[in-house]
Amino acid sequence: MHGALADPASPAIEVRGLRKLYGEKAAVDGLDLTVPRGCFYGFLGPNGAGKTTTIRMLIGLARPTAGEIRLLGLPMPERALDIKRRIGLVPEESLLFERLTGAEFLQFAGRMYGLDRATAASRAAELLEFFRLNDSPRKLIAEYSKGMRKRLMMAAALIHRPELFLLDEPFEGVDAVGARIMKDLLLDQVRRGATVFLTSHVLEVVERLCDRVAILNQGRIVLEAAVSDLHSAAETLEDAFVRLVGAGQGLEKPDWL
Ligand code: ATP
Repeated sequence: MHGALADPASPAIEVRGLRKLYGEKAAVDGLDLTVPRGCFYGFLGPNGAGKTTTIRMLIGLARPTAGEIRLLGLPMPERALDIKRRIGLVPEESLLFERLTGAEFLQFAGRMYGLDRATAASRAAELLEFFRLNDSPRKLIAEYSKGMRKRLMMAAALIHRPELFLLDEPFEGVDAVGARIMKDLLLDQVRRGATVFLTSHVLEVVERLCDRVAILNQGRIVLEAAVSDLHSAAETLEDAFVRLVGAGQGLEKPDWL
């Protein structure tokens, strides 16, 4: 039924048998994943594990070789437009418009997400202030630093109060104050029932924020667990991570090092 509302009890993210081949190599190799609504979910793995490729498939930027994706109960890519209005994104490389100011970009994002002009403008102004990006309001995005870009992407992800956040390294390059603002905001979003799915290499941060984690290695999930279960097994997330993907640990160091 076209335009049917998704079942609100369906998981925020459901992935079955997801695969992505680049040439002969599987970047993502048969991924099954269920992220319940209202969950703060950490998607971890070493460099090259397939995290960004997975997120790119979730948001329709890369086409899966095989598998099924449902976001908020809706199939992707068939219902991509409906889905995109209900998710907030911080992609790995920023999809920003260099010749706009921060305020213009946020207003544009708000309008794209279906807000009326007045609401988009007022929320854009409030978000700029909240993320401390309003010191030089005429500055173009081309002149933004890396951390400022991440702050702006996070602001754009929030402007339409989405139900699901897909965030690729959202704190990378953001200073301690900015990162604290983002973390507190994301925890607030989860408290109001939204779902957060993020990648990060900073395991202490993940451990503090996330309810559940998956660890990906060579395109496959090697651990899926509640953070509290790891703790009751007397393991830190870092211990589990190194145990599961730490191949190469204990390699001989060259003499000169
Ligand atoms: P990182 O933590 O370093 O960001 P990641 O887990 O996000 O890593 P991906 O960027 O998803 O890893 O890459 C997974 C694998 O797919 C890597 O081997 C990478 O070289 C390969 N890959 C990614 N994008 C492409 C592409 N466009 N063409 C060919 N290979 C690719």
